[in-house]
Amino acid sequence: MKKIFLIIITLCFIMTGYSQKVNQQDSIVINNIYNTALLDGASYDWLDYLSNQIGSRLSGSLGAELAVTYTEEQLNELGLDKVWLQSVMVPKWTRGIAEFSYIETSPGVTSTTNVCALGGSVPTPHGGLKAGVVEVTSFEELEELGREKIEGKIVFYNRPMQANLIQTMRAYGGAVGQRYAGAKEAAKYGAVGVVVRSMSLRMDDFPHTGVMSYGDTTENLKIPACAISTNGANYLSATLKLQPNLLFYFNQNCRTHKDVQSYNVIAEITGSEFPNKFIVVGGHLDSWDLGDGSHDDGAGCVQSMDVLRILKKTGYKPKHTIRVVLFMNEENGLRGGKKYASEAKRKNEDHIFALESDAGGFTPRGFSFDMNGGSFEMIQNWKPLFKPYLINIFEKGGSGADIGPLKKEGLILAGLRPDSQRYFDHHHAANDTFDAVNKRELELGTAAMTSLVYLFDKYL
Ligand SMILES: [Zn+2]
Repeated sequence: MKKIFLIIITLCFIMTGYSQKVNQQDSIVINNIYNTALLDGASYDWLDYLSNQIGSRLSGSLGAELAVTYTEEQLNELGLDKVWLQSVMVPKWTRGIAEFSYIETSPGVTSTTNVCALGGSVPTPHGGLKAGVVEVTSFEELEELGREKIEGKIVFYNRPMQANLIQTMRAYGGAVGQRYAGAKEAAKYGAVGVVVRSMSLRMDDFPHTGVMSYGDTTENLKIPACAISTNGANYLSATLKLQPNLLFYFNQNCRTHKDVQSYNVIAEITGSEFPNKFIVVGGHLDSWDLGDGSHDDGAGCVQSMDVLRILKKTGYKPKHTIRVVLFMNEENGLRGGKKYASEAKRKNEDHIFALESDAGGFTPRGFSFDMNGGSFEMIQNWKPLFKPYLINIFEKGGSGADIGPLKKEGLILAGLRPDSQRYFDHHHAANDTFDAVNKRELELGTAAMTSLVYLFDKYL
Protein backbone atom coordinates (compact mmCIF):
# COMPACT_ATOMS: atom_id res chain seq x y z
CA MET A 1 0.00 0.00 0.00
CA LYS A 2 2.79 2.35 1.02
CA LYS A 3 4.63 1.45 -2.18
CA ILE A 4 1.63 2.29 -4.38
CA PHE A 5 1.22 5.57 -2.53
CA LEU A 6 4.87 6.43 -3.20
CA ILE A 7 4.53 5.57 -6.89
CA ILE A 8 1.46 7.80 -7.17
CA ILE A 9 3.27 10.66 -5.43
CA THR A 10 6.30 10.27 -7.71
CA LEU A 11 4.07 10.15 -10.78
CA CYS A 12 2.32 13.31 -9.62
CA PHE A 13 5.64 15.08 -9.27
CA ILE A 14 6.77 13.97 -12.70
CA MET A 15 3.48 15.06 -14.26
CA THR A 16 3.45 18.43 -12.50
CA GLY A 17 7.04 18.99 -13.52
CA TYR A 18 6.18 18.07 -17.05
CA SER A 19 3.16 20.35 -17.26
CA GLN A 20 5.14 23.20 -15.70
CA LYS A 21 7.82 22.69 -18.31
CA VAL A 22 5.24 22.69 -21.09
CA ASN A 23 3.61 25.80 -19.70
CA GLN A 24 6.90 27.57 -19.25
CA GLN A 25 7.86 26.86 -22.83
CA ASP A 26 4.43 28.02 -24.00
CA SER A 27 4.60 31.20 -21.96
CA ILE A 28 7.94 32.04 -23.56
CA VAL A 29 6.50 31.52 -27.05
CA ILE A 30 3.38 33.54 -26.19
CA ASN A 31 5.46 36.32 -24.68
CA ASN A 32 7.47 36.43 -27.86
CA ILE A 33 4.24 36.62 -29.89
CA TYR A 34 2.98 39.55 -27.78
CA ASN A 35 6.32 41.34 -28.09
CA THR A 36 6.26 40.98 -31.86
CA ALA A 37 2.64 42.14 -32.12
CA LEU A 38 3.21 45.22 -29.94
CA LEU A 39 6.69 46.23 -31.04
CA ASP A 40 6.62 45.15 -34.64
CA GLY A 41 2.99 44.67 -35.62
CA ALA A 42 1.70 45.09 -39.17
CA SER A 43 -2.04 45.04 -38.54
CA TYR A 44 -2.47 48.76 -37.81
CA ASP A 45 -0.66 49.90 -40.98
CA TRP A 46 -2.65 47.46 -43.08
CA LEU A 47 -5.87 48.74 -41.52
CA ASP A 48 -4.79 52.32 -42.20
CA TYR A 49 -4.46 51.52 -45.89
CA LEU A 50 -7.68 49.50 -46.10
CA SER A 51 -9.65 52.23 -44.32
CA ASN A 52 -8.07 55.44 -45.51
CA GLN A 53 -6.81 54.57 -48.98
CA ILE A 54 -9.55 52.15 -50.02
CA GLY A 55 -12.52 52.89 -47.74
CA SER A 56 -15.81 51.05 -47.60
CA ARG A 57 -15.94 47.61 -49.20
CA LEU A 58 -19.51 46.56 -49.82
CA SER A 59 -19.75 43.39 -51.93
CA GLY A 60 -19.56 44.13 -55.61
CA SER A 61 -18.16 47.65 -55.08
CA LEU A 62 -14.89 49.06 -56.36
CA GLY A 63 -13.68 49.23 -52.75
CA ALA A 64 -14.21 45.49 -52.30
CA GLU A 65 -12.31 44.81 -55.51
CA LEU A 66 -9.39 47.05 -54.45
CA ALA A 67 -9.29 45.38 -51.04
CA VAL A 68 -8.95 41.96 -52.67
CA THR A 69 -6.01 43.18 -54.76
CA TYR A 70 -4.35 44.98 -51.85
CA THR A 71 -4.57 42.14 -49.32
CA GLU A 72 -3.44 39.57 -51.90
CA GLU A 73 -0.44 41.79 -52.67
CA GLN A 74 0.43 42.23 -48.98
CA LEU A 75 0.12 38.52 -48.27
CA ASN A 76 2.36 37.81 -51.26
CA GLU A 77 5.02 40.03 -49.74
CA LEU A 78 5.12 37.94 -46.57
CA GLY A 79 6.78 35.00 -48.30
CA LEU A 80 4.13 32.51 -47.19
CA ASP A 81 3.90 29.12 -48.91
CA LYS A 82 0.83 29.87 -50.96
CA VAL A 83 -1.44 32.84 -51.70
CA TRP A 84 -4.50 32.64 -53.94
CA LEU A 85 -7.96 33.99 -54.72
CA GLN A 86 -11.06 31.84 -54.50
CA SER A 87 -13.74 33.10 -56.83
CA VAL A 88 -17.26 33.68 -55.55
CA MET A 89 -20.31 35.38 -57.06
CA VAL A 90 -21.69 38.04 -54.73
CA PRO A 91 -24.80 40.23 -54.57
CA LYS A 92 -24.49 43.88 -55.48
CA TRP A 93 -26.66 46.53 -53.87
CA THR A 94 -26.01 50.25 -54.15
CA ARG A 95 -27.32 53.07 -51.96
CA GLY A 96 -27.52 55.73 -54.67
CA ILE A 97 -27.74 59.37 -53.67
CA ALA A 98 -27.99 60.19 -49.95
CA GLU A 99 -31.30 59.54 -48.27
CA PHE A 100 -33.45 62.40 -47.05
CA SER A 101 -36.20 62.36 -44.44
CA TYR A 102 -38.32 64.61 -42.26
CA ILE A 103 -41.20 64.68 -39.81
CA GLU A 104 -44.10 66.91 -40.88
CA THR A 105 -46.22 68.03 -37.94
CA SER A 106 -48.47 70.29 -40.00
CA PRO A 107 -48.38 71.25 -43.69
CA GLY A 108 -44.99 72.82 -44.39
CA VAL A 109 -43.75 72.48 -40.80
CA THR A 110 -40.99 69.92 -40.92
CA SER A 111 -37.90 68.80 -39.04
CA THR A 112 -35.32 66.69 -40.73
CA THR A 113 -34.15 63.37 -39.33
CA ASN A 114 -31.19 61.15 -40.16
CA VAL A 115 -32.02 57.93 -41.93
CA CYS A 116 -30.25 55.45 -44.19
CA ALA A 117 -31.63 52.67 -46.36
CA LEU A 118 -31.29 49.17 -44.95
CA GLY A 119 -29.13 46.87 -47.03
CA GLY A 120 -31.21 45.08 -49.63
CA SER A 121 -34.14 47.48 -49.38
CA VAL A 122 -36.09 48.62 -52.42
CA PRO A 123 -36.13 52.38 -53.14
CA THR A 124 -39.02 54.64 -52.18
CA PRO A 125 -41.34 55.59 -55.06
CA HIS A 126 -39.91 58.33 -57.25
CA GLY A 127 -40.01 61.59 -55.28
CA GLY A 128 -40.13 59.82 -51.93
CA LEU A 129 -42.78 58.40 -49.66
CA LYS A 130 -44.92 60.36 -47.19
CA ALA A 131 -47.41 58.70 -44.82
CA GLY A 132 -48.74 58.54 -41.29
CA VAL A 133 -46.77 56.55 -38.72
CA VAL A 134 -47.63 53.63 -36.46
CA GLU A 135 -45.08 52.99 -33.73
CA VAL A 136 -44.57 49.45 -32.43
CA THR A 137 -41.96 47.61 -30.39
CA SER A 138 -42.67 44.05 -31.52
CA PHE A 139 -44.20 41.90 -34.24
CA GLU A 140 -46.88 40.85 -31.74
CA GLU A 141 -47.95 44.47 -31.39
CA LEU A 142 -48.10 44.70 -35.16
CA GLU A 143 -50.42 41.72 -35.26
CA GLU A 144 -52.67 43.18 -32.55
CA LEU A 145 -53.04 46.44 -34.47
CA GLY A 146 -53.84 44.53 -37.64
CA ARG A 147 -54.49 45.70 -41.18
CA GLU A 148 -57.13 48.23 -40.10
CA LYS A 149 -54.59 50.40 -38.26
CA ILE A 150 -51.54 49.69 -40.41
CA GLU A 151 -52.68 49.79 -44.03
CA GLY A 152 -51.22 52.76 -45.90
CA LYS A 153 -48.97 53.70 -42.97
CA ILE A 154 -45.26 53.64 -42.25
CA VAL A 155 -44.44 51.22 -39.46
CA PHE A 156 -41.89 52.59 -37.00
CA TYR A 157 -40.10 49.85 -35.03
CA ASN A 158 -38.75 51.40 -31.87
CA ARG A 159 -37.60 48.62 -29.56
CA PRO A 160 -34.21 49.72 -28.17
CA MET A 161 -31.30 47.38 -27.57
CA GLN A 162 -31.47 46.24 -23.97
CA ALA A 163 -28.99 48.41 -22.06
CA ASN A 164 -28.59 46.21 -18.98
CA LEU A 165 -27.10 43.28 -20.88
CA ILE A 166 -23.35 43.26 -20.29
CA GLN A 167 -22.66 41.39 -23.52
CA THR A 168 -23.91 43.88 -26.07
CA MET A 169 -23.99 41.17 -28.77
CA ARG A 170 -26.95 39.74 -26.83
CA ALA A 171 -28.65 43.13 -26.80
CA TYR A 172 -28.12 43.29 -30.57
CA GLY A 173 -29.55 39.79 -30.96
CA GLY A 174 -32.64 40.88 -29.04
CA ALA A 175 -33.36 43.87 -31.26
CA VAL A 176 -32.06 43.07 -34.75
CA GLY A 177 -35.13 41.06 -35.78
CA GLN A 178 -36.96 44.37 -36.33
CA ARG A 179 -34.33 45.37 -38.85
CA TYR A 180 -34.03 42.01 -40.58
CA ALA A 181 -37.69 41.05 -40.92
CA GLY A 182 -39.51 44.32 -40.13
CA ALA A 183 -40.43 45.15 -43.73
CA LYS A 184 -41.60 41.64 -44.50
CA GLU A 185 -43.85 41.56 -41.41
CA ALA A 186 -45.26 45.07 -41.88
CA ALA A 187 -46.05 44.41 -45.55
CA LYS A 188 -48.43 41.62 -44.48
CA TYR A 189 -50.73 44.28 -43.00
CA GLY A 190 -50.51 46.69 -45.91
CA ALA A 191 -47.80 49.04 -44.56
CA VAL A 192 -46.15 51.23 -47.22
CA GLY A 193 -42.74 51.63 -45.57
CA VAL A 194 -40.68 50.83 -42.52
CA VAL A 195 -38.49 52.94 -40.25
CA VAL A 196 -36.34 51.04 -37.75
CA ARG A 197 -34.57 52.40 -34.68
CA SER A 198 -30.81 52.03 -35.23
CA MET A 199 -29.09 49.11 -33.56
CA SER A 200 -27.02 51.19 -31.18
CA LEU A 201 -26.84 51.69 -27.42
CA ARG A 202 -25.66 55.27 -27.73
CA MET A 203 -27.77 58.36 -28.30
CA ASP A 204 -26.47 60.10 -31.41
CA ASP A 205 -27.37 61.15 -34.93
CA PHE A 206 -25.86 58.26 -36.89
CA PRO A 207 -28.26 55.90 -38.63
CA HIS A 208 -26.95 52.30 -38.70
CA THR A 209 -27.56 50.19 -41.77
CA GLY A 210 -27.47 46.39 -41.95
CA VAL A 211 -28.99 43.59 -43.89
CA MET A 212 -32.75 43.10 -44.17
CA SER A 213 -34.76 40.45 -45.96
CA TYR A 214 -38.13 40.36 -47.70
CA GLY A 215 -38.27 36.59 -47.37
CA ASP A 216 -40.76 35.28 -49.90
CA THR A 217 -42.66 38.58 -50.21
CA THR A 218 -43.79 39.04 -53.82
CA GLU A 219 -42.09 41.81 -55.78
CA ASN A 220 -45.05 44.24 -55.79
CA LEU A 221 -45.44 43.98 -52.00
CA LYS A 222 -41.85 44.85 -51.12
CA ILE A 223 -41.81 48.08 -49.13
CA PRO A 224 -38.83 50.41 -48.57
CA ALA A 225 -37.05 50.14 -45.22
CA CYS A 226 -34.69 52.57 -43.54
CA ALA A 227 -32.95 52.98 -40.19
CA ILE A 228 -33.29 56.16 -38.16
CA SER A 229 -30.64 57.37 -35.69
CA THR A 230 -31.34 56.78 -31.98
CA ASN A 231 -31.82 60.55 -31.42
CA GLY A 232 -34.16 60.61 -34.41
CA ALA A 233 -36.09 57.61 -33.09
CA ASN A 234 -36.64 59.27 -29.70
CA TYR A 235 -37.66 62.51 -31.35
CA LEU A 236 -40.11 60.78 -33.68
CA SER A 237 -41.56 58.79 -30.78
CA ALA A 238 -41.95 61.87 -28.57
CA THR A 239 -43.50 63.91 -31.39
CA LEU A 240 -45.93 61.09 -32.19
CA LYS A 241 -47.22 61.21 -28.63
CA LEU A 242 -48.04 64.89 -29.05
CA GLN A 243 -49.24 64.64 -32.63
CA PRO A 244 -50.36 61.14 -33.56
CA ASN A 245 -51.34 62.31 -37.03
CA LEU A 246 -47.91 63.59 -38.05
CA LEU A 247 -46.51 62.49 -41.39
CA PHE A 248 -43.10 61.00 -42.04
CA TYR A 249 -41.29 61.46 -45.35
CA PHE A 250 -38.29 59.57 -46.67
CA ASN A 251 -36.58 59.29 -49.99
CA GLN A 252 -34.05 56.63 -50.91
CA ASN A 253 -32.65 55.53 -54.24
CA CYS A 254 -31.02 52.19 -53.50
CA ARG A 255 -30.99 49.37 -56.03
CA THR A 256 -30.21 45.69 -56.32
CA HIS A 257 -28.11 44.76 -59.35
CA LYS A 258 -27.06 41.46 -60.90
CA ASP A 259 -24.58 39.33 -58.95
CA VAL A 260 -20.94 40.08 -59.68
CA GLN A 261 -17.66 38.19 -59.54
CA SER A 262 -15.58 38.59 -56.41
CA TYR A 263 -13.10 36.63 -54.30
CA ASN A 264 -12.08 35.25 -50.94
CA VAL A 265 -8.40 36.00 -50.34
CA ILE A 266 -6.49 33.02 -48.94
CA ALA A 267 -2.88 32.37 -47.91
CA GLU A 268 -1.19 29.57 -46.01
CA ILE A 269 1.87 28.28 -44.24
CA THR A 270 2.06 24.59 -45.09
CA GLY A 271 2.20 22.28 -42.09
CA SER A 272 5.47 20.49 -41.42
CA GLU A 273 3.89 17.30 -40.05
CA PHE A 274 0.27 17.35 -41.15
CA PRO A 275 0.04 19.41 -44.33
CA ASN A 276 -3.42 18.04 -45.02
CA LYS A 277 -4.91 19.16 -41.73
CA PHE A 278 -6.02 22.79 -41.68
CA ILE A 279 -6.28 25.55 -39.14
CA VAL A 280 -8.12 28.66 -40.37
CA VAL A 281 -7.98 32.18 -39.04
CA GLY A 282 -10.02 34.90 -40.67
CA GLY A 283 -12.38 37.85 -40.86
CA HIS A 284 -14.54 39.34 -43.58
CA LEU A 285 -13.12 41.70 -46.14
CA ASP A 286 -16.42 43.29 -47.18
CA SER A 287 -18.00 46.02 -45.07
CA TRP A 288 -21.05 48.26 -45.12
CA ASP A 289 -20.78 51.38 -47.20
CA LEU A 290 -21.40 54.22 -44.71
CA GLY A 291 -18.07 54.25 -42.87
CA ASP A 292 -14.86 52.53 -43.91
CA GLY A 293 -15.49 49.29 -42.03
CA SER A 294 -12.47 49.63 -39.74
CA HIS A 295 -14.03 47.75 -36.82
CA ASP A 296 -16.39 45.65 -38.92
CA ASP A 297 -14.39 43.90 -40.10
CA GLY A 298 -11.19 45.48 -41.38
CA ALA A 299 -9.79 44.82 -37.90
CA GLY A 300 -10.49 41.09 -38.08
CA CYS A 301 -8.87 40.86 -41.52
CA VAL A 302 -5.62 42.59 -40.64
CA GLN A 303 -5.37 40.73 -37.33
CA SER A 304 -5.77 37.41 -39.15
CA MET A 305 -3.15 38.36 -41.74
CA ASP A 306 -0.79 39.32 -38.94
CA VAL A 307 -1.26 35.95 -37.21
CA LEU A 308 0.57 34.27 -40.10
CA ARG A 309 3.18 37.01 -40.35
CA ILE A 310 3.96 36.81 -36.61
CA LEU A 311 4.19 33.01 -36.62
CA LYS A 312 6.67 33.26 -39.46
CA LYS A 313 8.57 36.16 -37.96
CA THR A 314 9.01 34.39 -34.61
CA GLY A 315 10.40 31.36 -36.41
CA TYR A 316 7.58 29.06 -35.45
CA LYS A 317 7.13 26.08 -37.79
CA PRO A 318 3.51 24.95 -37.56
CA LYS A 319 2.73 21.22 -37.63
CA HIS A 320 -0.59 21.79 -39.38
CA THR A 321 -1.28 23.96 -42.39
CA ILE A 322 -2.32 27.39 -41.16
CA ARG A 323 -4.52 29.44 -43.44
CA VAL A 324 -5.72 32.99 -43.34
CA VAL A 325 -9.03 33.48 -45.13
CA LEU A 326 -10.45 36.93 -45.84
CA PHE A 327 -14.06 36.15 -46.59
CA MET A 328 -16.11 38.19 -49.05
CA ASN A 329 -19.75 39.16 -48.54
CA GLU A 330 -20.44 38.38 -44.90
CA GLU A 331 -22.65 41.42 -44.50
CA ASN A 332 -25.30 40.78 -47.10
CA GLY A 333 -25.12 37.19 -48.16
CA LEU A 334 -22.32 35.16 -46.53
CA ARG A 335 -21.42 33.88 -49.99
CA GLY A 336 -17.67 33.83 -49.23
CA GLY A 337 -18.08 31.73 -46.09
CA LYS A 338 -20.39 29.31 -47.87
CA LYS A 339 -18.07 29.04 -50.87
CA TYR A 340 -15.02 28.38 -48.72
CA ALA A 341 -16.83 25.63 -46.81
CA SER A 342 -18.20 23.97 -49.94
CA GLU A 343 -14.76 23.98 -51.60
CA ALA A 344 -13.20 22.54 -48.44
CA LYS A 345 -15.79 19.78 -48.49
CA ARG A 346 -15.35 19.10 -52.19
CA LYS A 347 -11.58 18.83 -51.78
CA ASN A 348 -11.99 16.73 -48.65
CA GLU A 349 -9.85 19.14 -46.65
CA ASP A 350 -9.70 18.17 -43.01
CA HIS A 351 -10.25 21.34 -40.95
CA ILE A 352 -9.47 20.91 -37.27
CA PHE A 353 -9.72 24.45 -35.90
CA ALA A 354 -11.11 27.76 -37.19
CA LEU A 355 -10.96 31.15 -35.48
CA GLU A 356 -12.74 34.31 -36.59
CA SER A 357 -12.34 37.90 -35.46
CA ASP A 358 -15.52 39.79 -36.29
CA ALA A 359 -16.53 41.68 -33.17
CA GLY A 360 -14.44 44.83 -33.51
CA GLY A 361 -10.84 45.80 -32.90
CA PHE A 362 -11.33 46.51 -29.19
CA THR A 363 -9.35 45.13 -26.21
CA PRO A 364 -9.54 41.34 -26.36
CA ARG A 365 -11.19 39.69 -23.38
CA GLY A 366 -11.11 36.06 -24.50
CA PHE A 367 -12.63 33.53 -26.83
CA SER A 368 -15.90 31.77 -27.36
CA PHE A 369 -15.81 28.15 -28.54
CA ASP A 370 -18.38 26.31 -30.60
CA MET A 371 -17.52 22.65 -30.41
CA ASN A 372 -19.07 19.25 -30.39
CA GLY A 373 -16.43 16.74 -29.53
CA GLY A 374 -12.90 17.79 -28.64
CA SER A 375 -11.77 18.64 -25.16
CA PHE A 376 -12.94 21.91 -23.66
CA GLU A 377 -10.90 20.98 -20.60
CA MET A 378 -7.70 21.14 -22.64
CA ILE A 379 -8.65 24.66 -23.75
CA GLN A 380 -9.52 25.80 -20.24
CA ASN A 381 -6.11 24.57 -19.06
CA TRP A 382 -4.54 27.24 -21.28
CA LYS A 383 -6.21 30.03 -19.30
CA PRO A 384 -3.20 30.71 -17.02
CA LEU A 385 -1.05 31.32 -20.11
CA PHE A 386 -3.29 34.27 -21.01
CA LYS A 387 -3.54 35.71 -17.50
CA PRO A 388 -0.62 38.16 -17.91
CA TYR A 389 -2.42 39.61 -20.95
CA LEU A 390 -5.73 40.13 -19.10
CA ILE A 391 -7.57 37.58 -21.23
CA ASN A 392 -10.01 35.62 -19.13
CA ILE A 393 -13.09 34.64 -21.11
CA PHE A 394 -12.95 31.03 -22.24
CA GLU A 395 -16.54 30.04 -22.76
CA LYS A 396 -18.68 27.87 -24.95
CA GLY A 397 -20.86 29.77 -27.38
CA GLY A 398 -20.87 31.09 -30.94
CA SER A 399 -17.85 31.66 -33.17
CA GLY A 400 -18.12 33.72 -36.36
CA ALA A 401 -20.55 33.91 -39.25
CA ASP A 402 -18.00 33.17 -41.99
CA ILE A 403 -16.55 30.04 -40.41
CA GLY A 404 -20.02 28.79 -39.38
CA PRO A 405 -20.61 26.90 -42.65
CA LEU A 406 -17.50 24.78 -41.93
CA LYS A 407 -19.17 23.34 -38.84
CA LYS A 408 -18.92 19.56 -38.57
CA GLU A 409 -18.35 16.89 -35.94
CA GLY A 410 -14.95 17.25 -34.32
CA LEU A 411 -14.07 20.69 -35.71
CA ILE A 412 -13.53 23.38 -33.08
CA LEU A 413 -14.79 26.84 -34.08
CA ALA A 414 -13.88 29.92 -32.08
CA GLY A 415 -14.51 33.65 -32.06
CA LEU A 416 -12.32 36.37 -30.60
CA ARG A 417 -14.30 38.18 -27.90
CA PRO A 418 -13.15 41.79 -27.57
CA ASP A 419 -14.72 44.19 -25.12
CA SER A 420 -18.10 44.93 -26.71
CA GLN A 421 -19.26 48.06 -24.87
CA ARG A 422 -18.48 50.53 -27.68
CA TYR A 423 -18.88 48.19 -30.65
CA PHE A 424 -22.44 49.19 -31.46
CA ASP A 425 -21.55 52.90 -31.28
CA HIS A 426 -19.86 52.30 -34.64
CA HIS A 427 -21.31 49.10 -36.11
CA HIS A 428 -22.62 49.61 -39.69
CA ALA A 429 -22.59 53.41 -39.32
CA ALA A 430 -20.68 56.32 -40.85
CA ASN A 431 -18.47 56.51 -37.75
CA ASP A 432 -17.02 53.01 -38.19
CA THR A 433 -13.75 54.62 -39.19
CA PHE A 434 -10.03 54.16 -38.64
CA ASP A 435 -9.77 56.79 -35.89
CA ALA A 436 -12.16 54.69 -33.78
CA VAL A 437 -9.62 51.84 -33.65
CA ASN A 438 -6.91 51.96 -31.01
CA LYS A 439 -3.55 50.61 -32.20
CA ARG A 440 -2.69 48.78 -28.98
CA GLU A 441 -6.11 47.23 -28.61
CA LEU A 442 -6.00 46.00 -32.19
CA GLU A 443 -2.52 44.52 -31.70
CA LEU A 444 -3.47 42.86 -28.42
CA GLY A 445 -6.24 41.10 -30.35
CA THR A 446 -3.73 39.98 -32.97
CA ALA A 447 -1.43 38.62 -30.26
CA ALA A 448 -4.23 36.77 -28.47
CA MET A 449 -5.33 35.17 -31.74
CA THR A 450 -1.78 34.19 -32.69
CA SER A 451 -1.25 32.64 -29.26
CA LEU A 452 -4.43 30.59 -29.51
CA VAL A 453 -3.56 29.39 -33.01
CA TYR A 454 -0.10 28.41 -31.75
CA LEU A 455 -1.60 26.37 -28.89
CA PHE A 456 -4.07 24.59 -31.13
CA ASP A 457 -1.35 23.81 -33.63
CA LYS A 458 0.84 22.39 -30.90
CA TYR A 459 -1.70 20.42 -28.90
CA LEU A 460 -4.29 19.21 -31.41
ZN1 LIG B 1 -18.80 41.84 -39.34
